[in-house]
Amino acid sequence: MSKLAINGGTPVAAPETIRPKDWPPRSEATADRLREVYLTQTWSFNGPEEQAFVQEYAEFHGARHGIFMVNGTVTLQAALEARGIGPGDEVILPALTWIATAMAVRYVGATPVIVDIEPTTLCLDPKAVEAALTPRTRAIIPVHLYGGMADLEALLAIASKHDLALIEDCAHMQGGKWNGRGVGSWGDVGSFSFQQSKTLSSGEGGICLTNDDELADKLYRIKHIGYPQGTAQGVARTGPPAGLRCHNFRPTEFQAVILRDQLKDLASLIERYNKSAERIDSRLRDISGVRRQAKGRLASPQGYYAYVTVLDEEVFAGLKLNTIAGAIRAEGGVGGGTYGPVYRHLLWNLQESEYRLQAGGCPVADGIGTSRCLVLQHPFLGGTDESVDLLAECYAKVLSQPDALRDWQAAQPTEDAG
Ligand SMILES: *Cc1c(COP(=O)(O)O)cnc(C)c1O
Repeated sequence: MSKLAINGGTPVAAPETIRPKDWPPRSEATADRLREVYLTQTWSFNGPEEQAFVQEYAEFHGARHGIFMVNGTVTLQAALEARGIGPGDEVILPALTWIATAMAVRYVGATPVIVDIEPTTLCLDPKAVEAALTPRTRAIIPVHLYGGMADLEALLAIASKHDLALIEDCAHMQGGKWNGRGVGSWGDVGSFSFQQSKTLSSGEGGICLTNDDELADKLYRIKHIGYPQGTAQGVARTGPPAGLRCHNFRPTEFQAVILRDQLKDLASLIERYNKSAERIDSRLRDISGVRRQAKGRLASPQGYYAYVTVLDEEVFAGLKLNTIAGAIRAEGGVGGGTYGPVYRHLLWNLQESEYRLQAGGCPVADGIGTSRCLVLQHPFLGGTDESVDLLAECYAKVLSQPDALRDWQAAQPTEDAG
């Protein structure tokens, strides 16, 4: 076995040979279009760029309506508000996700009920959802996380049996399809984020997709201070339904321009990510204790916010993620950790009375913690074949030598090993 670079061996890749795709994408053509829109002085209020974008984005994902907003947290909040969810209600969400999924539930005054994930997909476990239902449960928010999709078939069956809203958090899953139709078009509402790091990005932004005409009108009113669907600021023909709390969640035309241009390349981007994921799979397949996050059972194609490698508890026992990721970096590669269980995140500040964990806690999410998954951000899947193969080689070299990693870790001064 070749000596690890942390132990003075030759690194797999020379500096700068492993490169991400230039991200977020930029082009002179988009810059020109931004300039044109700037000169039109139409910058908000459901302008022509927004109208075109929501139609194109909804169509791509197989949904009837798109409602464009300022970010992918208020889209979740708006989805809950449109379904009339508020104080006294419980909303089920997975233990492994970005904190925004849970925070949106608190913003509407409802109680997040945190339920465990499947060890394979790392997404919401339908069996754990059923066990966590109470008479107060009103909605389920599965998250299609990193490079996996929640089991929509099983979750839709639970939602329909118990008359619950199903809101898909698709912040990680632009362009991914479940059984041939876009994520976000299966439940009552699909929520997407266009924040800086996501697979389509306008710096900030978000969209709700829905096939329900009434929900579409409510979502539009919620984001546009009560104006009916499709209208600009001006004379409203009708006011919002009684009790619907409306906001200003309006984005600008500039965001729509950027996203429309990126959307044209989304299908080929996802195809590229899938090919790169397969290249890495084939290199890591036979390494003991290493498996990839399972794709969605009916994913076709799978979207990727990240490619995630799951490390076996026993094979990698005692190793800190910093040790493993540091060894990969020393080989010239890249990689980091997951968010960890949402209720253990540094930014998590809900009081114990404000949320509930499933009975007995979430052993799968807690077992994975922050140390048993390696996360490779999507722009690296967009690199050249050569770059992707070198990355896979860095992972393979490091992950096949857990004993050498443990020896190295043990030899570090304690303050550096943290
Ligand atoms: C990014 C993200 C969000 C929120 O999106 P913002 O646009 O950053 O508000 C919600 N859920 C998940 C899983 C995310 O990763």
